[in-house]
Amino acid sequence: MVNRDRITTEFMRQAAISSPSLKEGAMARYLQERFTALGAEVLYDQAGKSTGGEVGNLLARFAGSKKGEPLLLSLHMDTVGPCETIEPILIDGVISSAGATILGADDKAGIAEVIEALEIVRELKIRHVPLEVVVTIAEEIGLVGAKHFDYSLIRSRRGFAFDTTGVDFMVRQAPGANRMQIEITGLASHAGVAPENGLSAIQVAAKAISLMRLGRIDAETTANIGTIAGGVATNIIAETVQLKGEARSHDPQKLSVQTDHMLACFEQAADELTTTIDGKAVRAKVDIKVESDFPSMSVPKNAQICQLACKAASAMGRTMHDRLGGGGSDANIFNGHQIEMVIIGTGMQNVHSISESVVVEEMVQVAEFIVEVIKQA
Ligand SMILES: [Zn+2]
Repeated sequence: MVNRDRITTEFMRQAAISSPSLKEGAMARYLQERFTALGAEVLYDQAGKSTGGEVGNLLARFAGSKKGEPLLLSLHMDTVGPCETIEPILIDGVISSAGATILGADDKAGIAEVIEALEIVRELKIRHVPLEVVVTIAEEIGLVGAKHFDYSLIRSRRGFAFDTTGVDFMVRQAPGANRMQIEITGLASHAGVAPENGLSAIQVAAKAISLMRLGRIDAETTANIGTIAGGVATNIIAETVQLKGEARSHDPQKLSVQTDHMLACFEQAADELTTTIDGKAVRAKVDIKVESDFPSMSVPKNAQICQLACKAASAMGRTMHDRLGGGGSDANIFNGHQIEMVIIGTGMQNVHSISESVVVEEMVQVAEFIVEVIKQA
């Protein structure tokens, strides 16, 4: 059913188009042409303007040939770098990049699979509900396109994101994350001449971190201090230090407990290292900024969208396996907007590295799966 040559050519063509985050113009024009040729109405939202990108998120609407709840298929068109001049090569059924660049199978394997599935749906005149294909921009720099997406444009309340490794894998649950920025301000003084007149921001930061639970907190929760910068010279007591950290959890309650704990450690360290200078108590100032990076997602196994995936797989004699997500993806954001969405494996491998690859046979399998869910949706 799936045309191996066509899906291979489709993927190779896309991979050769450079599409770093916010510079997706050429890729968007290519996709607009493809989706239009397949019979879709193609439009963009305003996300390009609000994010400084070349284009907005692309929405391709395929009218239904039967009645029913519309189905959303979600993808992203940007890739990580290095991606300036990608030369995809096919050797023994495996596509990789010839040079020192990524391949862009993340997420172009998914896009090629969806396009191949739509080719087949059209060729075989498979009856289907209305389909909405969203291809976001700037996913790789913090789900920026999905966060700025104009949700009033879509009707679907259920969907699939094709954006993870493996084949016949489904991610229903992924953690939410909080990002924090902390600035500690102490008091500078000459380290050799008058150390008693200073308060070291580095010491406060060190104390705070030593009090902190970090790393794997429990099966659902992780935490990290990722960057630290500050100080001026060895002979100056460091006045300021900036830190960046994050907490993630599948459980929103645990996420807020861990975030609060980390922030409380900075306050505790500032209290404990309060010192007296010229008869006055001097306490380090702690400035904290916390923002939600993305919300957690948890789609129940008995949700209609999960059952659709499992039914489609079993109709082909295959089994859809559950896998716990570890990071944030567009699906976190879509779920946050009341669109029940799970993430499906596309066969992409070693993503975000120059050894990224995808096996043609696996793209074929995923395209077959997409045809089946469209048939059954
Ligand atoms: Zn991706």
